[in-house]
Amino acid sequence: MIALVLSLFAFFFQSGWTGVNERTFIAIKPDGVQRKLVGEIIRRFEKKGFKLVGLKLVKASEDLLKQHYWDLRSRPFFSGLVTYMSSGPVVAMVWEGLEVVKTARRMLGETNPADSLPGTIRGDFCVEVGRNVIHGSDSVESAQREISLWFHQNELLSWEDNSRRWIYE
Ligand code: UDP
Ligand code: MG
Repeated sequence: MIALVLSLFAFFFQSGWTGVNERTFIAIKPDGVQRKLVGEIIRRFEKKGFKLVGLKLVKASEDLLKQHYWDLRSRPFFSGLVTYMSSGPVVAMVWEGLEVVKTARRMLGETNPADSLPGTIRGDFCVEVGRNVIHGSDSVESAQREISLWFHQNELLSWEDNSRRWIYE
């Protein structure tokens, strides 16, 4: 009985994160904030048609960043990455929309700015992998994990987007 309730809960919880309700975690890194790219980056996501459901300026703790980048803990750049990411304010955001995880990654460009096409954020605004100005979740599962790490449930707002019917059929 408990298993049934849990699996039903998991099903509805998951389904709330798919289709036009899919969400991704985007963070403008300390170099992006210092280089005054906050407005430009938010503008790109807004103009694309995605919906902003969470936004805050945070000085992330090393502890949070170690959890965020846990999969990379054995990489040689890990401690430098944590130092860089905790060196100043980060703009943490949650964006919502159809295929937002995949599309946001394409808007970001490749991890290494040198491999990123012009027109992408990393392709347009940075040159080195260790200062690549923005983070975006790489899958729906990582997005769920990262959103719950960076945001409390009550910091994510449900609101009616008046342009919705001009963005979706
Ligand atoms: N990074 C780095 N050196 C590398 C690879 C990655 O400094 O050789 C940093 C970079 O800031 C990157 C972050 O580690 O954005 C996370 O790496 P990941 O492979 O997850 O790239 P992303 O998902 O950010 O494109
Ligand atoms: Mg990554």
